[in-house]
Amino acid sequence: MIDKKKIDSILSEYDSKKLSIATLCSHTSLQIFYGAKKEKLHTIGICTNEQQKKLYDAFPKAAPDEIIMADSPADIDANELVSKNALIVPHGSIVEYLGKGLDDLAVPVLGNRKSLMFERDRRKMYDWMKKAGLRVPAIFNPDKIDRACVVKHAGAKGGRGYAIVHSSEEYHDKFPDAKDVMIQEYLTGVRVYPHYFYSPLSTKGFKTSSGHLEIMSMDRRFESNVDESYRTSIAGVPIKPSFTVVGNEPIVLRESLLPDVLDMGKNVVETADKLFGGLPGPFCLELIVDEDLQFSAFEISARIVAGTNLFPDGSFYSLYSHDGGMSTARRIAVEVKDAAKKKKLDLICY
Ligand code: AMP
Repeated sequence: MIDKKKIDSILSEYDSKKLSIATLCSHTSLQIFYGAKKEKLHTIGICTNEQQKKLYDAFPKAAPDEIIMADSPADIDANELVSKNALIVPHGSIVEYLGKGLDDLAVPVLGNRKSLMFERDRRKMYDWMKKAGLRVPAIFNPDKIDRACVVKHAGAKGGRGYAIVHSSEEYHDKFPDAKDVMIQEYLTGVRVYPHYFYSPLSTKGFKTSSGHLEIMSMDRRFESNVDESYRTSIAGVPIKPSFTVVGNEPIVLRESLLPDVLDMGKNVVETADKLFGGLPGPFCLELIVDEDLQFSAFEISARIVAGTNLFPDGSFYSLYSHDGGMSTARRIAVEVKDAAKKKKLDLICY
């Protein structure tokens, strides 16, 4: 991974009055450009095909000020971005398509790129969640499966290719050659995905050991085909449940559950400080609440998540912390301006 000192030295050469927000044209890019433009920051979209550009003809208010073409995410021209004082906002598509390529990219990334290494590696992520004191689903050895489990393949993202098994026999039958899978207990309850923003600079919000935490918004996902399976059951069509994320819907939690959501976020941030030097910026916990109102966590997304796209003008939670219009993407832009003013960009970028 590129040395933090190298990134800090790039940042020290940046003209803080001419910063750009850059990202790959996918995932949350409409929200990212829309939010940055509201804060009057220059925006750069990295497109890998003509198809992506069409999106911005359809949604002109969220179009980036400038488009850079690249043959693939791996061909992003670091020097060109650095010459434009660019800060990259990492999102799910960057994590998926650039993968380890992000580790050495010589452009400042908003947040801590080490956290994305923990996101990519399920076992590291598990360790992080456990050290943060979160309840997590049990993990099974293939020969010891004694209940319904989700089989997650390495690199599978957005639920694609997950399968449910109920016994070791069924597992070996379905996956005779599987390598590097995680077999997780299937959790039952209501899924909820809170979107947090952690700032080491702000003095407002839920206090943590070295900064403040905000809940920006919250969603629940629509996954095909499991989330419409009641229709299939009524129609008498048997299905094999699958979990491919298709879209998102807002969810608001019982107010009495919010202190737990804040505590979990705080523990995740404070553990990140110890494990890899911090988690500035947006992140999300993937949670399930059971009938006894107990939370379990099965994943951390260490960057902006697609569920935040529901709230480009703020949510029913961000309204309680900000004047209207504060999306997660806009909050990132506000943080960039604040850090630039305080000459502390190194605290929120790696
Ligand atoms: P993930 O790739 O971990 O975000 O998972 C994709 C989807 O699969 C989630 O949004 C859940 O609906 C489902 N899922 C993942 N892990 C579990 C689990 N341990 N128990 C129940 N559902 C799960």
